Amino acid sequence: MIRVPRLSLPFRVLAAVALVCALAAFSHRIALDNGLRKLRDAERHRLELISLRVQGVLARFEYLPSLLETAPDVMALFDTPADDRLRDTVNRYLHGVNSTAGAEMLYVLDLEGLAIAAADADQPGTPLGTDLSFRPYVRDALRTGHGRFFGLGVTSGRPGYYLSYALPRDGAQRGIATVKIGLADIERDWKQNGGEVLLTDENGVVILTSRPEWRFRPLRPLSAARLRDIGEARPYGDAPLAALDWRELSGPAQEPREVVLEGKRYVASSRALEHGDWHVYVLDDETAVRNQALSAALIAALGGTVLLLAGLLAWQRQRTIRARLRNQAALQAAHAELERDMAARTAELRAARDELVQAGKMAALGQMSAGLAHELNQPLAAMHALADNTVVLMEHGRETDVRSNLQRLTQLVDRLARITRQLKVFSHKPSAPPAPTSVARALANAEFLVAASLRQHGVTLRTEIDPPVLQVLADETRLEQMLVNLLRNAIDAVTHGIDRRIHVCAHIDGERVRIRVDDSGPGIRADILPRLFEPFTTSKQAGVGLGLGLSLSAHIARELGGSLSGGNLPGGGARFEIVLARAPDAPTP
Ligand code: ADP
Repeated sequence: MIRVPRLSLPFRVLAAVALVCALAAFSHRIALDNGLRKLRDAERHRLELISLRVQGVLARFEYLPSLLETAPDVMALFDTPADDRLRDTVNRYLHGVNSTAGAEMLYVLDLEGLAIAAADADQPGTPLGTDLSFRPYVRDALRTGHGRFFGLGVTSGRPGYYLSYALPRDGAQRGIATVKIGLADIERDWKQNGGEVLLTDENGVVILTSRPEWRFRPLRPLSAARLRDIGEARPYGDAPLAALDWRELSGPAQEPREVVLEGKRYVASSRALEHGDWHVYVLDDETAVRNQALSAALIAALGGTVLLLAGLLAWQRQRTIRARLRNQAALQAAHAELERDMAARTAELRAARDELVQAGKMAALGQMSAGLAHELNQPLAAMHALADNTVVLMEHGRETDVRSNLQRLTQLVDRLARITRQLKVFSHKPSAPPAPTSVARALANAEFLVAASLRQHGVTLRTEIDPPVLQVLADETRLEQMLVNLLRNAIDAVTHGIDRRIHVCAHIDGERVRIRVDDSGPGIRADILPRLFEPFTTSKQAGVGLGLGLSLSAHIARELGGSLSGGNLPGGGARFEIVLARAPDAPTP
């Protein structure tokens, strides 16, 4: 698994922004490169086509002027330029030739540069009769045999390319044949296609262009010498020749070039034409490509942002789900742990309570054993004496006394049996559900168990059960156990004073029965009172009190579905109250 290093929030935001920017920049670059490459490819192709077409047009009529060399009428006209009939013949001849050739103009000049015959002699704007000696193509033809020249027509004003040829006869020049090639068609095509096209001549002046406002404007300012030459030849008519704002941004060796023309940026490809110092320039506006690249960058940025946000959202969602699952698992674990804990604690508590009940019983037994020993010793001693005495009486044959002694012995045995029954009852573990139990009988049994202490400390016990047949739902031994505990505590309490009275009363309270044990003792100590029913709460000396009696009694009361409470009486002394469910009254004894 790949671990993403943890970054602080600003860093993450910065990283995200950087990522989006990088993506945008990358897309921009790719789109721009791609767009420019396509643009340049198209441009190169266009340049090729345009150059071929221009060259084709220019080369098409190269043959035409020299052809006139073979026309006898033309050559004759140079000898008799004043011959009107001959001129007409030549004019018609030229017209015929040109009709087939298709040039814009075809005419002949004498050696002085005067146009003496023309194909369009009857048309307005014909050069016929015009002195064209100032045109460079005339001079070049006379000097070198042929000439070529671009310029506006002197009479027509239409731009054209002039090809001239000095017609020789017998080794001497006789006149000059000139053909003018119209270039308007070429230009028309350029305007129809996208992008801009420039054709510059040897002066660096734009002679043909897709944008009429650029025509006859040089790419760079012209030198004074050049301007003088131009003034003589007047190829551009009266054009002011203000230089265009042309700047090349990339190096001259680079092709295509980045240029600025009249404040606008273009990709420019150029090519020199075969026949001379003419150049074709093809210019393409980069704006569209650049805009496309910007759009691509924008789309990439937006896409990147959307993707990032979507990723972030998905990640957040996952994190939330993971956290929720983690929390759930933790909660479940905690819950399970708690339940296990609770179960363990409950088991422990149960075990502890059971132990305490048992311990309480053992303690009560221990406490009782002294009283019991006393209780048992007395009758046993009496029985011993009676038995001895009976033996003597039997020897003397005193049958009546023997019977009386035996009767007394039976009584004593009965008493012993009663005591042991109580003991058995005490160690008995309850199993049966609470059954109707006589309050009077339970109290009598309890009283019997503490009788020795009562007697020993001279304590008066008064009991009052209303009605005497009152029954409660309880296990008899357990009710007895509670009462014994309360009576023992009461006895312990009253022995502190001179007034030693205990009052036990039981009465009906609706569906319940209240059994109260009041005493004339000093009352429950203030520091004991709040924890009265807690185990091991005792004010008694070690060995005397275990502090288990009340807590066990309360436990028993609760187990029987009732309660045990204790407090002090306003007139002094303590009151403990057992509340239990009432059972139907016992049949009257
Ligand atoms: P123990 O009797 O072994 O001390 P108990 O749980 O029976 O344990 O009693 C706890 C304490 O409650 C006693 O030590 C005593 O301080 C107080 N107490 C119980 N009954 C009375 C009473 N009738 N009068 C005053 N104090 C009492």
